[in-house]
Amino acid sequence: MPTYTYRCDSSHRFDEVHTMSSIPDASTCPECGGEALRRPGAPHLSAAGSSAYGLIDASARSAHEPGVVSSLPGTPRRAGSGVTRNPLHAKLPRH
Ligand SMILES: [Zn+2]
Repeated sequence: MPTYTYRCDSSHRFDEVHTMSSIPDASTCPECGGEALRRPGAPHLSAAGSSAYGLIDASARSAHEPGVVSSLPGTPRRAGSGVTRNPLHAKLPRH
């Protein structure tokens, strides 16, 4: 379930987990007991610098710069016995 961030008048921040269908706009601050309003925006996006942001950046980067490419197109394949150098692939049956 998604986590939503709330913030009270005293700038206390806390997270609550709610289902998508029942998201209260306000909650009670566990620190001061005051009313806390749900911060606008998508879940977790307020946590800048978190792993969620890193994931988004990585996804955007891979869209135009795939990380799996090990050699540039047109580069001659290095001389070798097999197609792959991954030792795990050596266990696969040969054709
Ligand atoms: Zn508070």
